[in-house]
Amino acid sequence: MTDTDLLRQHGLRVTAPRLAVLDALEGHAHLDADAVLQRVRTAVPTVSVQAVYDVLHALSDAGLLRRIEPAGHPARYERRTGDNHHHVVCRACGAVDDVDCAVGHAPCLTPSSTSGFAVETAEVTFWGLCPTCRAAG
Ligand SMILES: [Zn+2]
Ligand SMILES: [Zn+2]
Repeated sequence: MTDTDLLRQHGLRVTAPRLAVLDALEGHAHLDADAVLQRVRTAVPTVSVQAVYDVLHALSDAGLLRRIEPAGHPARYERRTGDNHHHVVCRACGAVDDVDCAVGHAPCLTPSSTSGFAVETAEVTFWGLCPTCRAAG
């Protein structure tokens, strides 16, 4: 499916900034808004910062993007959605990578108590040092 079809399927108008944001995140997961903006500007030089933020929010709300917000770091965006995967974050440089969910379906963790909640997903952030920072340290 093309990104044009993808936007239409989710009831979103097809615009150059939306296509450029999707393209910027294709094969480049976990970019923050600044990194997305830089990549989008190579395709749509006139796009404003606000326009890119608006697109990131619209696409996240529509479920086309997933937003992760590691504590102390700017929000990151990715196109890998709906599979309940987790993240490992470097506490030194903020590098992010994917960690597959433990059993392959959501929620992949069983809490000892759910206080009556019907649990649907589990979002785990593993913190540590990335290979680059380990080599430097
Ligand atoms: Zn690091
Ligand atoms: Zn991810």
